[in-house]
Amino acid sequence: MGIKDPMTSKPTRPHICVIGSLNIDFVTSTPRCPGAGETLTATSLTVTAGGKGGNQATACGRASFTNNETQDATVTMIGAVGDNDVYYSTLLKPALEKSGVSTADIEESTEAQTGSATIIVEDAVGGENRILVVPGANHAGMMGDVVSIVDVVKKQEVRPGVVVLQGEIPRKTTLGLLEYFNGGVSVEDRVHVVFNPAPVYPGGISLAALKHTSVLIMNETEAVQMSRSIAGLPVSDSTQPTELDDLQPEELAPHFHDTADVQIVLITLGAKGVYYSTRTGRRGSVPGVRVPKVVDTTAAGDTFVGYFSTALARFLAKGEPLETFDIEIESAVKKANAAAARCVVARGAMQSIPFAYDLE
Ligand code: AMP
Repeated sequence: MGIKDPMTSKPTRPHICVIGSLNIDFVTSTPRCPGAGETLTATSLTVTAGGKGGNQATACGRASFTNNETQDATVTMIGAVGDNDVYYSTLLKPALEKSGVSTADIEESTEAQTGSATIIVEDAVGGENRILVVPGANHAGMMGDVVSIVDVVKKQEVRPGVVVLQGEIPRKTTLGLLEYFNGGVSVEDRVHVVFNPAPVYPGGISLAALKHTSVLIMNETEAVQMSRSIAGLPVSDSTQPTELDDLQPEELAPHFHDTADVQIVLITLGAKGVYYSTRTGRRGSVPGVRVPKVVDTTAAGDTFVGYFSTALARFLAKGEPLETFDIEIESAVKKANAAAARCVVARGAMQSIPFAYDLE
């Protein structure tokens, strides 16, 4: 795919555009879950900002603060919330803006409420989670329409060098955006896509849409599900196990390079760190950073995606082609891995994502 800006190889300001979900998380801790028809007094309710799209935009924004005043990249978020939503105006919007994310392209939809996740944490069974997600505006209005989203991207002041996508908006939209940005209706419309297929759509991702994706970031489960998907198999089917289900990261990654022409494959391994592989032959592992105590792993993957995407956008903004990122990939993975480890020692989603200047 090559150089991001075909008109010039002059340096430009890095711009990362995250297209994805925005949620409000309602976390209720309780000694135990009530039975049917039972009312119970719970321990606490915490209301926080979340959604994979919002978390990843926050991580990109925070990754780009070189000190507490200066940001060396532009980060924009395309998403949707319910209109006149007090949780958006008092929680989500300020959280994004304080992280250096532009909220100008977030639609305030009259069709649906802000997406929500109701999370019940049951103390009696070691803090086990039960989660109910209502997609709301993440699956309505603009988020269901590829043409509207592409129009918003085209109207942005500076064209993004990197577009970040996940799996919490409608599958049809994600497939359309992948095909659009990966194929490019014209050379000018091409941007580099960082795709984090989380969660993997039950219907999978077509090979046609995945082709030429610049960066694919998955955890181990998602890597198996995605390799099943591109092999034309159901994403998960316990009645149809295949040899793909038992493959190691270094065996899974070549499928994506060879079959789908993905340039960079990153497989996150929780506490074990990250495996990376490029189509141009660079591969290796970065071990997990040891932390004193794991408090909450929510948003660790999102932190990794945001930090890596920002490093890539900085590199591409110098006018360098994607293939030459091989020389910087290990250092980008190490930084993103360190940032993600910092995320697991704090509670919550967005609020546990570190600013770059705090990692020094
Ligand atoms: P995962 O989505 O669980 O693969 O985690 C994403 C990334 O977060 C990992 O690749 C690590 O960089 C980091 N991470 C997750 N869990 C831990 C942990 N227990 N200790 C240190 N880093 C972690």
